[in-house]
Amino acid sequence: MHENQLWVNEPLPYAYDALEPYIDEQTMHLHHDQHLQAYVNHLNEALAPFPKFQCLSLEQLICMAGRLPPKAGVPIARNAGGVYNHRFYFDSMTPEGPDQPSGTLAQAIDRRFGSFAAFQQAFAAAAEGVFGSGYGWLASDRRGQLRILTTANQATPLTAGLCPIMNVDMWEHAYYLKHYNKRADYLSDWWNVVNWPAAEARYAACLRCGPGR
Ligand code: MN
Repeated sequence: MHENQLWVNEPLPYAYDALEPYIDEQTMHLHHDQHLQAYVNHLNEALAPFPKFQCLSLEQLICMAGRLPPKAGVPIARNAGGVYNHRFYFDSMTPEGPDQPSGTLAQAIDRRFGSFAAFQQAFAAAAEGVFGSGYGWLASDRRGQLRILTTANQATPLTAGLCPIMNVDMWEHAYYLKHYNKRADYLSDWWNVVNWPAAEARYAACLRCGPGR
């Protein structure tokens, strides 16, 4: 398509049908090839008039956009957030992996929530309660304290100075083809494909380097 495309839609780290039967192949095609692709295209359009922003990372764009005049900042925030959140979501899933975290992250979850089961319950309740479109997140502050939060639309925990550890996309396009309006069913399927090693690596990086890395 565009010759000087700045941002590209990286392929998924697994096959489109790899998360079956929990997340269906058609949803993954639409989600990656249509929804994420649109954010990539719109981010390129939003950045075209600003050569000096073209070397910034997604994290830097997201954190900087709020300081720009809204006409420039809003499209950059929305679309950099859309690309960041979707990459994060796809990278937070894997067809093969342990069904629970281990090591430092597992200990931090136990410390904060009492048990892994209690954490799952609290996380699912928060994600299920997203009003309209948004995401459920596990994030860490700079001291390694975990928290569950939700964000609306394509907002991220980065602007609150937090390290995202994992997320789940609660926009209807993430689940409606297979799970219809049953968010609880989507979430109970989604637990089967959470990429705990990726979450552990992000938590370790947060403890080492802090947010905004
Ligand atoms: Mn999505």
